[in-house]
Amino acid sequence: MKVPFVDLKAELRDLGDEFEKTITRVCDNGLYILGAEVAAFEREFADYCGVRHCIGVGSGFDALQMIFRASGIGPGDEVIVPAYTAVATWLAVSAVGATPVGVDVDPRTYNLDPSRISAAITPRTKAIVAVPLFGQPANMDAIAAQAARCGLLLFEDAAQAHGARYRGRRTGGLARAAAFSFYPTKNLGALGDAGAVTTDDDELAERVVLLRSYGWRNRSASEVKGFNSRLDELQAAILRIKLNRLERWNSERRARAERYLDELAKIEEVTLPEFPGDVEPVWHVFAIRAEKRAALQEHLAANGIQTLVHYDPLPHLTSAFRDDGWAEGALPQAERLAQRALSLPMFPQLTLSDCDEVISAISSSVTAADGRL
Ligand SMILES: *Cc1c(COP(=O)(O)O)cnc(C)c1O
Repeated sequence: MKVPFVDLKAELRDLGDEFEKTITRVCDNGLYILGAEVAAFEREFADYCGVRHCIGVGSGFDALQMIFRASGIGPGDEVIVPAYTAVATWLAVSAVGATPVGVDVDPRTYNLDPSRISAAITPRTKAIVAVPLFGQPANMDAIAAQAARCGLLLFEDAAQAHGARYRGRRTGGLARAAAFSFYPTKNLGALGDAGAVTTDDDELAERVVLLRSYGWRNRSASEVKGFNSRLDELQAAILRIKLNRLERWNSERRARAERYLDELAKIEEVTLPEFPGDVEPVWHVFAIRAEKRAALQEHLAANGIQTLVHYDPLPHLTSAFRDDGWAEGALPQAERLAQRALSLPMFPQLTLSDCDEVISAISSSVTAADGRL
């Protein structure tokens, strides 16, 4: 493989020594769960997002579940989710016993289309989850206006958008609460599973603190039926090191995205991602669209370039949600996108000459004698 989709070991060249020292330091502390590293990371990440509270938890999926549980969402409730997202967004709604209701997306941005939300609202609807997909915030003002008009809670699934901005404000602070994942491939990733909830709501924060650890306040009697979903000291210590690099890494992603955008704009057969001027994406994923996606992906693979498809099938067309009554054609904009989207290599240590290899392979696919695209 000449150009991998992502190379998680690349950061070890810079950070390996610091990781080793940090792991030794945490081991020497002899306290591995909910200690000083977690508290420090929570403070630092809350400051980074511009919110009062960050609660470290076990994964992005758990962060979503605990936001729902802390907000009283459960069986009989409906939660509006984008049609185009990782299946985790939908599954977290199901996990608390509620029903995810998919709403179609704006094909230019892949994000929740605010104008389609009202048709999906029923007397059971409790909340909307906006997902800044691929690192690009949705049209939050329009979505918040819909939520306010109908008395719904608004949350963010910000698992792909650490550091992205909407009208100058960072994700994590754009709704009542946000869920972050620190899965290793995310823009801010741990060396294993990890996640966080961010919020300005003191009560919600307190409930999540109880929920993540058996409903305990001080290892006392369980106040609520909690989970065990805590952020480890080791992961928190690693995340603190990486949080210091996040702005630089996001700007390196931006430079690679700009190279792709500039050069691929010359290729008519490729549709590029679009983003409005009031949004600063962090390019977790760089997804193009091509009518003959399978042929393009094959051609790139033959040229040593690894690509992925996010997401096909979409959550509503997986067998997990078949019983909920979804069928093909229910969310047509998202379905069209899902058949054409192809994610190109994107990570901070990807070189610009690697990007150029990708670009020239796409261009040779278009001009191939058999007219591949
Ligand atoms: C990765 C991801 C999640 C799940 O995060 P985990 O930490 O893997 O549980 C949820 N939503 C979206 C949009 C994601 O990309």
